[in-house]
Amino acid sequence: MIAVAIDGPAGAGKSTIARQAAKKIGFIYVDTGALYRTVGLFMLRNGIVPSDEKMVAEEVDSGRVKIGLTFQNGEQKVLLGGEDVTGQIRTPEVSVASSQVSAIPKVREFLFSLQKDLAKENHVIMDGRDIGTVVLPEAQVKIFLTASAEERAKRRCKELREKGIEADFGNVLRDIEERDYNDSHRAIAPLVPAKDAVLVDTSAMTLEQAVDTVLDLVETALSSN
Ligand code: C5P
Repeated sequence: MIAVAIDGPAGAGKSTIARQAAKKIGFIYVDTGALYRTVGLFMLRNGIVPSDEKMVAEEVDSGRVKIGLTFQNGEQKVLLGGEDVTGQIRTPEVSVASSQVSAIPKVREFLFSLQKDLAKENHVIMDGRDIGTVVLPEAQVKIFLTASAEERAKRRCKELREKGIEADFGNVLRDIEERDYNDSHRAIAPLVPAKDAVLVDTSAMTLEQAVDTVLDLVETALSSN
């Protein structure tokens, strides 16, 4: 099986780029952030404070958190206890909760085998924060995708405005810088490029150029194997 690991900070365009690249080469695209978001959603729904390590770990240990992924026409759907919650994990509350639960070792352990199994059975492009370093260190292609904080804030503002949500550039930029700091300084699975990852800065690239860059890297890696 072939695995392409794409890691990088929030807003670098990982999911859009990975989704399009996967479609072009017929791999499945796995968005691992959706798994952390679903654990966060479970905690919120059940009145558990997502930063409460003891309570969250207890829930995970109890077996009550039942998460699954399915793929419909190549699109990932995430299931919580059999319910499709794909449309419910993008709210700001769930974003915060996902970031909090993602710092809890028990949660990372719990999601680890789910991610591993997907890569055992399929050719995947998997995106996240620790795919090249922790989940799939054996991946044939590792890419660390980034863009300047300003560029990421600009893209995020545009996205929010397109959804009719007012966005203040200064606030969005501050949020991004704060998330970057938290993600790269947490004790467990911090966001760092794998030693053998190729760094791709998308600040000055169009989406098409970024997708082509990823596909070129995949092709080069596979032809030299
Ligand atoms: O990528 P996305 O923003 O959807 O991820 C949601 C949260 O899950 C992030 O805040 C990040 O901290 C966490 N995450 C992680 N490891 C991954 C993917 C996401 O810790 N592989």
